[in-house]
Amino acid sequence: MKTLQRTFSIIKPDAVAKNATGDILGMIQHAGFNILGMKMLWITKAQAEGFYAVHATRPFFESLTTFMSSGPIVVLALEKENAIADLRKLMGATDPAKAEHGTIRKKHAASIEANSVHGSDAEDTARFELSYFFAGYELTR
Ligand code: ATP
Ligand code: MG
Repeated sequence: MKTLQRTFSIIKPDAVAKNATGDILGMIQHAGFNILGMKMLWITKAQAEGFYAVHATRPFFESLTTFMSSGPIVVLALEKENAIADLRKLMGATDPAKAEHGTIRKKHAASIEANSVHGSDAEDTARFELSYFFAGYELTR
C-alpha cells in the first residue's frame, strides 16, 4: 500500500529574487510531489527566528534569520511517498559546492547560506514547520 507523507519546503529569498521560483516548482513537481499548499510571504526577522529556533545557538543564526527575512519567500506543503527523504535528495547538500548534479542547490544555490531551498529533515520537524506556516484549512486535502 502507498503511504503518503507530507513535508514542508521553502523557496528561499535568493531563489525568489533571481526568478527561479518557477523552475524550482517544476523540479519539485517533476520529481512527483503534489503541492497541497503554497504562498508567497515576506517574513519578519522575529518570524524567521521562530522558524529556525532549533538553530538558535548556532554561529550562523543571526545571519541566517536576517537572510530569511531579507525578501519574499515561497512556502510549500508537499505530499508524496517518502516525501521527507526524497525532497532532501532533490535539494542536494547544504553547501552547493558539495551538491550533486541534478539537485536544486547545484543548479540554483549561491552559497552555503543562500542555498535556494529548505526542506524538513524528519517527521516531527515537518509537522512543526507545516503548522508554523499553514492552517489546516489552507491545505487542499
Ligand atoms: P534547511 O534546514 O534550510 O533545509 P539544511 O538542513 O541542509 O538546510 P541546516 O544545517 O539545517 O541545513 O542549516 C539551516 C540553514 O542554515 C542552511 O540551509 C543554510 O541556509 C544555513 N547554514 C547552514 N550552515 C551554515 C553555515 N556554515 N554558514 C552559513 N549558513 C549556514
Ligand atoms: Mg535543516
